[in-house]
Order: sequence, then structure tokens, then C-alpha cells
Amino acid sequence: MIQFDQVTKRYPGGNEALKNLSFSIETGEMVFLAGPSGAGKSTLLKLIAGIERATQGGVLVNGQNLTRMRGNQICFVRQHIGMVFQDHKILFDRNVFDNVMLPLDIIGFDRRDAARRVRAALDKVGLLGREKSMPIRLSGGEQQRLCIARAVVHRPSILLADEPSANLDRAYALDIMELFKSFHQVGATVVISAHDETLMEDYGRRIIRLREGQFAA
Ligand code: ADP
Ligand code: ADP
Repeated sequence: MIQFDQVTKRYPGGNEALKNLSFSIETGEMVFLAGPSGAGKSTLLKLIAGIERATQGGVLVNGQNLTRMRGNQICFVRQHIGMVFQDHKILFDRNVFDNVMLPLDIIGFDRRDAARRVRAALDKVGLLGREKSMPIRLSGGEQQRLCIARAVVHRPSILLADEPSANLDRAYALDIMELFKSFHQVGATVVISAHDETLMEDYGRRIIRLREGQFAA
């Protein structure tokens, strides 16, 4: 379960990205996060992932309060989280396989087991066979799939995606949504942000709407 208890996030310089937010997301839920650019969607996801810290309030992930944790403790929590970043964070000097291997290298996964995991992740997103390709050779949709493979390769219980369908044609965007749905169906808690709500409406899931760091109607 993910729980925000009166969370405020102020960036250095005084920019208040989230203002006193309280809500929770149940284990196994699939939730959408909507709102215009600057609403605080990325910040909210980064707080769950332990990439940013709350200025005030509690962020609880699986019962553990990230706000009070030290860096090395947060690393353990992060092993249960996969994140698809808005700016992709693809390493363009490494091939597809090595990009997906990266999280397992960081965890210190057994190398042979890891190779099997990487292929399984690539298979799920339809990129098996492109292992040796350099990312620059992939289309926009394929690059997004690469990011998803990298986010799920360590089988996280929580999958976060920051505007995964931005810059994709509607058909590709819907494919990506279906992919997230398939991870939700096997038990992952999934949180997906988007500024385009039309993609979310067909799914009948809860939509958390943000505007200027607060809930919007
Ligand atoms: P969204 O993902 O909805 O576009 P963000 O969470 O990226 O919103 O941003 C929320 C607000 O916080 C914006 O005003 C943005 O400019 C600000 N912000 C985001 N990241 C930083 C940062 N690292 N430093 C200062 N301000 C930031
Ligand atoms: P994101 O929504 O993923 O944060 P952005 O394009 O909004 O992506 O921002 C790119 C980077 O710049 C992010 O690392 C974000 O934290 C940072 N950032 C965003 N807004 C600001 C800001 N007002 N001041 C400083 N850094 C910011």
C-alpha cells in the first residue's frame, strides 16, 4: 500500500510542488494521475520512488515511512519499485540488452539468472530479438517499451510511469496502456500519469487529478 499523509514538497528555491496531500493507493490497484504540466505529477511519483523526499508529512510505501529513512534503507524499498521516467533515461552507448540489465546489476543479481530475466522482460514488451540493437535504432514506441522492460525486469510490486504515452500516436499509446494493464493483472500496483485524460477514461480506474499541487475536481 502507498499512503500519503499531509505531504508537502517544497523544492529549493521555494517552489511548492505538492501542498498538504493525503490519499492512499491499495496494493494491487491501478490508478491514473492526471493534471496539466506543472501540477505535481512527477513530484508525486518521485516521492513514492524515494527519488525526492517530502518536506513535510509522511510517505508510506508498504508500511515504511520514506520520509524518515536513511539513504541505504531507501535503496531496499526501491528494489520493490519500477519507474518509467518521463525523460526515458536510456543509455544510448549501450545496447537494448545492457540497458535492461542495468537495474539487476545494481541489485547485484546473479549474472546468469539476470540474463534470463532480461530476456523475459524484453519478451513481455515485444522486443525479444532486438537485444543487440542500439537504442538509437528503435522507434519512439520501441524506446518506450525498452523503458518499460527496464522498469519491470526486477519484478517490482509497484510500477510507476511518468507520462509514458507522451509523444506517442494514439494507437501506440493504447498499446502501452495495455502493457501496463497486463502487469497490473499479474498483481503489480500500477500508477500512471498523463496530461491527456482521454486515454484513461476507457479503463474505469480511479483518476487522481492534480492542479498546482492540490487535488482538482
Ligand atoms: P508535472 O509532472 O505535473 O508536470 P512536476 O512535479 O514536474 O509537475 O512539477 C511541479 C512543480 O514543481 C512545477 O512548478 C515545477 O516547475 C516544480 N519543480 C519540479 N521539479 C523541480 C526541481 N527539481 N526544482 C524546483 N522546482 C521543481
Ligand atoms: P519531470 O516532469 O520529469 O520533472 P521536466 O521536463 O518537468 O520533467 O523537468 C526536467 C528536470 O528538471 C527534472 O529533473 C525536474 O525535476 C527538473 N525541474 C523541473 N522544473 C524545475 C524547476 N522549476 N527548477 C529546477 N528544476 C526543475
